[in-house]
Amino acid sequence: MSRRTLTILAISIACAGCKKTDPAPAPKEGSGSQQVDPAKPVPVPVRTHDVLPRADFNRWAVRQNLPVYWIVDADSDNNLDANEVASLLFYPTEGKWVSADGKFTAEFEKAYDAIVAASKAKPVDPATDEGKRQKLVGEDLDQGRASLVRSDATALSADDKIFIGHILRVGSLIDQLYEDHAGASALAAKLPADPASRSLFRRNRGPKCAGPATEKDPLCSAIPGSPKPIYSIYPAELQKDDKFCQLLEKHADAKKLLAPFVAVRGDAAKLETVPYTDAYKDPMTAISNEITAAADSMKDPTEVPLVEYLRAAAKSFTTNDWNPADEAWAKMTVDNSKWYVRVAPDEVYWEPCSQKAGMHLTFARINQGSKTWQSKLVPVQQEMEKEIAARAGKPYKERKVTFHLPDFIDIIVNAGNDRTPLGATLGESLPNWGPVANEGRGRTVAMVNINTDPDSRSARKEQAESMLDAASMKNYASTTEPSLLNTILHEATHNLGPAHEYKVGGKDARDTFSGPVASLMEELKAQTGALFLIEFLRAKKLISDELAAQTYADGIVWAFGHISEGMYEADGKRKTYSELAAIQIGYLIEKGVLTWDDKAAAANGKDTGAFTIHSDKIVPVVDELMKLVAGIKARGDKVAAEALIKKYVDGPVVPHATIKDRLLRFPKASFVYSVTM
Ligand SMILES: [Zn+2]
Repeated sequence: MSRRTLTILAISIACAGCKKTDPAPAPKEGSGSQQVDPAKPVPVPVRTHDVLPRADFNRWAVRQNLPVYWIVDADSDNNLDANEVASLLFYPTEGKWVSADGKFTAEFEKAYDAIVAASKAKPVDPATDEGKRQKLVGEDLDQGRASLVRSDATALSADDKIFIGHILRVGSLIDQLYEDHAGASALAAKLPADPASRSLFRRNRGPKCAGPATEKDPLCSAIPGSPKPIYSIYPAELQKDDKFCQLLEKHADAKKLLAPFVAVRGDAAKLETVPYTDAYKDPMTAISNEITAAADSMKDPTEVPLVEYLRAAAKSFTTNDWNPADEAWAKMTVDNSKWYVRVAPDEVYWEPCSQKAGMHLTFARINQGSKTWQSKLVPVQQEMEKEIAARAGKPYKERKVTFHLPDFIDIIVNAGNDRTPLGATLGESLPNWGPVANEGRGRTVAMVNINTDPDSRSARKEQAESMLDAASMKNYASTTEPSLLNTILHEATHNLGPAHEYKVGGKDARDTFSGPVASLMEELKAQTGALFLIEFLRAKKLISDELAAQTYADGIVWAFGHISEGMYEADGKRKTYSELAAIQIGYLIEKGVLTWDDKAAAANGKDTGAFTIHSDKIVPVVDELMKLVAGIKARGDKVAAEALIKKYVDGPVVPHATIKDRLLRFPKASFVYSVTM
């Protein structure tokens, strides 16, 4: 269970960098409806599309649930041109915005008018419950800044395009199954007509709000009355009890009931399990068939490992035995395939009990950039294990590590459990179970095209500037390398020290700490390793002093971002990354690496009160933190884990309110996808 998410820190800059020197005439809204003499040919007026700045256009497009996106104002004329627009996937409609001759279609003009009209419409009246709900829905949507993951497949072969088409269809089927599991599909019929509610339901994968400022408001829902989604993987009756997960954990048959690939059926008196492939036979057969069609369509003779994986995966979707698919998957590398496909039930965070594997499709192109890092890090991986084992201490013993460092992938689409309302997965190690996982033969990836667009980078920098003083900002780089190194080291550390298969006193981490705290400690170990290994690499001259300093700063800004999202979900579930971030920042504050000065000017020149990073103290303090965290895992020290949580997650050391106040001014990236073929 190892993925690193970064809900990135984004800002909506109304038309940053736009030239306002050339005011274009206002467009004639609804042009074409004027009465004209049909006998006289009237030249079609060339319409401008400059009513809304780019950020506002994209925001109102989301509110209108329209699959349109203004990519960039390439010529800085503040006018949306036909070559600046993208059609988005995963919307209820498909947008055909530009005709073959490169002109906007009538459909586009209609969409543009609807977006402008919505932006100028009278706000809803919050005096009624329904008005209040609609207002909250808008606010929830606005906490996301649509951020485009764009893939250009125009240069690929016709066969490759057919292959992409099949995989995209697999993605739609996976979406449907995931939304069934999560209880969203069953509520779809209750959706009201307004496009914003429908957009929220689409983006959030169900009726619940997802923005940090609105998620806990009981009125905030895509559906009036805020109905609770009933997860189809557990009996509906059972879910009436808020503590049903604990009930299952304490059940005599807990191991069987909480196994990852089975649905629970029956009632409290008699609970039983049904394999996913029986409980969801039809949708899983359809997925299997489409994966087979994708395998059949792959004509590139060099893609044998990919085809073998797809065939094995297609079979697993009918047998519920995921090991053969994992084995075939693990044989794929950056050298033997241009593609990265993972279609399986994998991560567990999505459901209330964090036990059942969620359906997802990750579809990406291999990016060869990982080889540079691999050639640097693979030769020292055993030494990394030695260092972390030394920090972990007894009874943990250094073991032989055989992990792969992250392969780099450029995401094409995320489907099912992969596509979250806000933020996206930046790194992932899979599988989570079975021999491939236990023998360290899985794959780790870093999603390198996420968060790298100019909007996201400038937004994140502004967030950093609102928290740090100017001197500390000197080590904050706007380049993508420090974040990438953080992700690489985080994922690498999942394979180091006490990991999934580690047991102390015959108990694994889930038995020792309970599921959610076990996840928290594993992620805390990984992210602490991401800081700890920086000095290891710097001392070996594998990275420069400058990159080392930048990577610490980046890790700290990453943690602020997660803290701003709050420590618990509305239902009281732990937010794993937020909590590990709070433990790290709290520890760095206590040990004097970070100091807060109420009177210091933040680097943005606007806020008073800022943190200073004391670079000279980082290395020894991070070393101590590594010892503390790896030691807790090594000893199965539940008391010490709970003490960390009490102090930093729930206690007053971390200025949670200030961090929230500064960072929640900025919307978070909400990823949207387009593939041009
Ligand atoms: Zn992780």
